Amino acid sequence: MEDKEILIGKYKVKVLRDGCIGAGSCIAVSPAVFKLDENNKAVFVDGAADEAENILMAAQSCPTKAIVVTDTETGKQVWPD
Ligand code: SF4
Repeated sequence: MEDKEILIGKYKVKVLRDGCIGAGSCIAVSPAVFKLDENNKAVFVDGAADEAENILMAAQSCPTKAIVVTDTETGKQVWPD
């Protein structure tokens, strides 16, 4: 399955499926945005919404850096940096 990405506020958020080990840290930090699918991989909740800072914290909590966050205003990848 291809990597999914969504736009939340100013951030474009992508989960690298091959990198996700189902650790669930992102879900603990931002359960309104992330959930595990039947293959124990992180996917986006329908209608995902959260504060930008919390999404960044969720990405930073991922032990394999499988969540990539890009600032659409600057075009810069903010995590992993
Ligand atoms: S924290 Fe990373 S490895 Fe864990 S479920 Fe989320 S994306 Fe996957």
